[in-house]
Amino acid sequence: MSLIILDRDGVINHDSDDFIKSPEEWEPIEGSLEAIARLNHAGYSVVVITNQSGIARGLLDVDTLTRIHSKMRRMLAQAGGKIESILFCPHGPDDDCPCRKPKEGAYTELASRLRLNLTDVPAVGDSLRDLEAAKAVGARPILVKTGKGERTLSQGIPEGVAVYDNLSDVVTDLLDTAL
Ligand SMILES: [Mg+2]
Ligand SMILES: [Zn+2]
Repeated sequence: MSLIILDRDGVINHDSDDFIKSPEEWEPIEGSLEAIARLNHAGYSVVVITNQSGIARGLLDVDTLTRIHSKMRRMLAQAGGKIESILFCPHGPDDDCPCRKPKEGAYTELASRLRLNLTDVPAVGDSLRDLEAAKAVGARPILVKTGKGERTLSQGIPEGVAVYDNLSDVVTDLLDTAL
């Protein structure tokens, strides 16, 4: 089984500094849903690992997050794609939980659930903490310029991290290389 790990905000959907707090605020980035469908058709399982500290901050509750994810899954299904599972961290920066990126707790949880290691598994994000968490488990961090990606790039990223304009370009290259 081929696996790919995606951050959510700024990779699949447009991000907001004010957080995504409702299904209405969740809007896909052009081409991202189709890109996930292309991955699925090429045999990839797609897993989302996302920090959702808006919950700890009281900006949304878990029910609302579930409704946001229902919208994402519904729109994705219409594009012919599917997400295997979504692991979210509901905690805040001061909660000292193991699952908030840049910590790798959600990745190790995923690895033990799927009983595989994440060595060289592509992990796409738009923030430094996505890249750091992926690196910590030996996955292959990839930066996209969507969301906070341009800002992340200008602040400096670890050596050897591949950079793409958006998820669609990542997928095109990944599937090309695999052939
Ligand atoms: Mg993000
Ligand atoms: Zn957490």
